[in-house]
Amino acid sequence: MATKTATFKAEIKELMNLIAHSMYSDQDVFLRELISNGADALEKMRLKALDDASLYGDEQDLSIYVDMNKEARTITIRDTGIGMSQAEVVEHLGTVAKSGTKALLNELKSANNEEQSSLIGQFGVGFYSAFVVADRVTVKTKKAGEDTATQWESDGVEKYQTETIEKTSRGTEVILHLREEESVNKFLEDWQVRQIITNWSNHLAAPVMMAKTGDDEEGYEQVNDAQALWTMRPKDISDEDYQKFYQMISHDFNDALVYDHKHMQSVNTEFTSLLFVPKKAPMDMYFRDYSKKGLKLYVQRVFIMDEADQFLPSYLRFVKGVIDCEDLPLNVSREILQTNPKTKAIKASITKNILKMLAKLADKQPEDYRSFWSEFGPVMKEGAAQDLANKDVLMPLLRFIDQNDAQLSLSDYVAQMKSGQEKIYYLVSDNPQAAKHSPHIERYASKGYQVLILTDRVDPFLMNTMKEFEGKPFHNVAEKDEAMTDETLEKETEKAQEEHKSDIERVKSVLDTQVSEVRFTSRLVNAPSSIVAGKDALTPHMHRLMKEAGQPVPSFQPILELNPQHALVKRLLAETADVKFEMIAQVLFDQAMMSDGGQVSDPNVFIQSMNELMASQ
Ligand code: ADP
Ligand code: MG
Repeated sequence: MATKTATFKAEIKELMNLIAHSMYSDQDVFLRELISNGADALEKMRLKALDDASLYGDEQDLSIYVDMNKEARTITIRDTGIGMSQAEVVEHLGTVAKSGTKALLNELKSANNEEQSSLIGQFGVGFYSAFVVADRVTVKTKKAGEDTATQWESDGVEKYQTETIEKTSRGTEVILHLREEESVNKFLEDWQVRQIITNWSNHLAAPVMMAKTGDDEEGYEQVNDAQALWTMRPKDISDEDYQKFYQMISHDFNDALVYDHKHMQSVNTEFTSLLFVPKKAPMDMYFRDYSKKGLKLYVQRVFIMDEADQFLPSYLRFVKGVIDCEDLPLNVSREILQTNPKTKAIKASITKNILKMLAKLADKQPEDYRSFWSEFGPVMKEGAAQDLANKDVLMPLLRFIDQNDAQLSLSDYVAQMKSGQEKIYYLVSDNPQAAKHSPHIERYASKGYQVLILTDRVDPFLMNTMKEFEGKPFHNVAEKDEAMTDETLEKETEKAQEEHKSDIERVKSVLDTQVSEVRFTSRLVNAPSSIVAGKDALTPHMHRLMKEAGQPVPSFQPILELNPQHALVKRLLAETADVKFEMIAQVLFDQAMMSDGGQVSDPNVFIQSMNELMASQ
């Protein structure tokens, strides 16, 4: 076949360019990535051959070989794995199929160097990391069971060439033509390369082989331990080993925040899990089809699949790791996993383990837990809203802030409750600033009560499921609170409301359809007015959320509450001129909308009215 030249997809070009320029300090990474691709290919081979042993042909060996050639300035990573067909070469080495590539690129462009390499790592640059050290890469590959072999070659800039070649052995060979640069010379030195391999790939399950070094020695020797880390006893594994393993499977440049390694045995199932919580939330964690969720699944040490997401609830999608199951069938597929009862048992057990690990972190390393919370708080709230079976464990893991920005848990809240306080108070809003100064919390703040300020998107859903904690009920301060009503003030307010019935009706007719009702309230201290949920019981915040989500919402008609003790309300009630009365009524409503974090219907009218009222003092 003649050589075919093709152009990389635009986003790959951009990605490769960024990789080459942002990973100077992490050059070693290419070796880890290419060796791990080799290991994946070996595992796929082993799995396929379970069904069809003839795929091995006359090559039983499953290893990775690393060779250097100083004269030619090449380093070659070769495996006897599954290999790639011609179509697969183009698909896997010519496009980036992962979701979120565009978003990643945008994020990368605005990041500094250090952030860039960590972002790229998260994304898993994989194969393209070869171009960090090489200005030309040649891949020769032959798929197990097929006759034709393919060569792929590129300088990593614009184009790549493919052609059919002669290759007798199964598997893939990646030849890196190293750049003419001082910094990459170390990849031609035997001892340096050995060091990098033992450093990164010691507990990779596949053997990595290098040529023997003695002058008259021939053949290859194994340079890594090649014992899968999770099969070792925890007491034989160092923290460093765990972290290296984490970085290998996650592509993260940081260490994991915490990890958990357990062998679980029950009547239902037996498995080993090695689970890691990253320090940083993946940047695409909130995308609809989050690209890299799930665990690596092994059955009796045989690799079965990546990204097995059946073993984690969706809110724990950031957890990375490996699960090795003793009693699932080797031919297990995603479909079988969906319906296999063991899946459920394993998932429940893993979920409990992760939550236990987090609870321990919160208890023993509060600073680390704080940083965990700042990265993963919203997904943990998702969990508390969804995972009712683990609600009791999840609730103590939640963290909130009060109106003074102090971070606290629900236990902290309850412990700090003032005498006479019976409820856990909270306010849901989409505007943190507005919430902290909301008229709704005035009365609580004046008694020294803490009010939880909830401003995450999931908060309204979370609070719908939160009934009580340690026997204390939750109460939304935007709603009527029997515990806070001051009998005398209440009576006075009712009396005033009766007296000013016609004024109140007049305000209602001025505001017309903007409100469903106008009434006096005794709940406000310094603010003249506030709005509360109307008849449809939708809070203004919920209303905005639904609108943003494109859901059909009834036109928004809150209840306007007026504070009869306030000077501005008194002025309204004393106003005789119609125009002024209408103006003040509208301003009181607009203010209430704004302090709730909403918008005034017409800012210009609002400003004009304010100006006029001030000038007419
Ligand atoms: P990832 O490993 O995260 O999928 P890579 O960029 O490292 O991403 O590799 C892209 C794809 O190319 C792999 O998923 C695999 O299908 C294919 N591939 C890369 N290296 C090899 C190899 N040595 N043998 C077989 N397939 C490979
Ligand atoms: Mg890879």
